[in-house]
Amino acid sequence: MTKIVEPTIFELSTPGRRGVTMPAVDVPETALPPKEFLRSELPLPELAEVDVVRHYMQLSKFNYNVDAGFYPLGSCTMKYNPKINEDTCRLPGFLFTHPLQPIETTQGNLVLMYEMQEWLKEISGFAGVTLQPAAGAQGEFAGVLMMRAYHNLRGDDKRIKMLIPDAAHGTNPASVGMLGMTVVTIPSDDRGNVDLKALEAACDETVVGMMLTNPNTLGMFDEHIEQVIALVHGCGGLMYGDGANLNALLGIVRPGDLGFDVMHFNLHKTFSVPHGGGGPGCGPVGVGPKLVDFLPSPLVGIVEAETDDVPPLYGFVTPKQSIGRMKAFHGHFGGGLVRAYTYIAMHGPDGLKDIAQYAVLNANYLQARLRDTYHIPFDRICMHEFVMEGQFEGSPIRALDISKRLMDFNFHPPTNYFPLIVHEALMIEPTETENKATLDRFADVLIQIAEEAKTQPELLQNAPNDTLFGRMDEVKAARELVLCCWLPEDYEKLK
Ligand SMILES: *Cc1c(COP(=O)(O)O)cnc(C)c1O
Repeated sequence: MTKIVEPTIFELSTPGRRGVTMPAVDVPETALPPKEFLRSELPLPELAEVDVVRHYMQLSKFNYNVDAGFYPLGSCTMKYNPKINEDTCRLPGFLFTHPLQPIETTQGNLVLMYEMQEWLKEISGFAGVTLQPAAGAQGEFAGVLMMRAYHNLRGDDKRIKMLIPDAAHGTNPASVGMLGMTVVTIPSDDRGNVDLKALEAACDETVVGMMLTNPNTLGMFDEHIEQVIALVHGCGGLMYGDGANLNALLGIVRPGDLGFDVMHFNLHKTFSVPHGGGGPGCGPVGVGPKLVDFLPSPLVGIVEAETDDVPPLYGFVTPKQSIGRMKAFHGHFGGGLVRAYTYIAMHGPDGLKDIAQYAVLNANYLQARLRDTYHIPFDRICMHEFVMEGQFEGSPIRALDISKRLMDFNFHPPTNYFPLIVHEALMIEPTETENKATLDRFADVLIQIAEEAKTQPELLQNAPNDTLFGRMDEVKAARELVLCCWLPEDYEKLK
């Protein structure tokens, strides 16, 4: 099939064409800066407004997104992003404030941040929360910094080992590596739990702590979670919770109550902030009593108590042993915090619990429908996601081929080749926002693809057959990143 691609705005540029009308100058004219600071040429395309709109509209259609269809990308929680979030984050009072404004003029924003800290504490069972980190990975970094500061302050400076299960997300060892600590990998047992014997053997006085995702990336709730935490605490370590899978637990289990000492939230997963190119991430971190004095600064607090006729004044406070600032200003306020605040406010406690229950129900429904067709290595009741193998005996088909074939049916593929402990892994997370009809269609298509894998493997190996671009050379794409859709004619020379 031939695909006709419209020319880009660069090719359509015509000298002198304009999409804007500059207003008359309403301030005194001043001289330009010295010549050496000025550019003589600025090669911007010149176009009418309609050309620009069409260009961006066309680009938006090249991309698959959760508003276009089912997006079961495991671990990423690609849930629907309610549109009311877009209204609230664009309210002028939020949109047009500046982080350096005097706090007397930004009380509304500060109240929102304060309540967000309180809500996240209530949801997770932690004693304190910072909203600063820009994403889950930066939240991990902040959390591990706090763990190190805690040990160092007590003069306990032999601790250099972080225990990380083999099912962990790559950001966990990466965060630890950035701090020069040593990663000790803990295997999973045959039910997808942390292997207790291996954990016990690794626990000693050099352990900083453990980083655990629960439910883990196999979608399994650890059946011995209390023993795992007791073992880590028993050797003086701290317990880090990777909160990326909190969607499965909302309103049911609080990680703080389980004994975790620190955990990041991914507001762009659990709390419906758009992600994957859709907007900024947001990775607040909650901590238990041991770490509450180490939180990044500043936090939002009440700086002048309420009196009979004056409401409290909200402002910024610094914890006693703070590890310092993680990020300029106060986190991703409008794009992250306001959207997530709206989502929590709209659902309330009962609604949040429904989210977790439907997310888990949807995943178990799909798992049950696919169990007879695909091998599921850790086959027990799952939480919000599950992992199956994308391979069949005697067939050359791999997980990647199945994923590419799914694109022909307008489905986004599941996560491929993660977690690493499952061969040809396909990690499926339907989320709570999909209805039964969509889940059934997805299961039907996967069952059909399994049949095709035996009878017409080339159909899978050539897929996707109906997208703007066919199958990519993934190694080349990763090694030679081209991040714009248009290349100047002399691109090769510019390199
Ligand atoms: C997404 C994810 C992370 C990292 O979070 P980012 O916000 O993408 O930095 C860490 N662990 C798990 C299990 C994840 O799914």
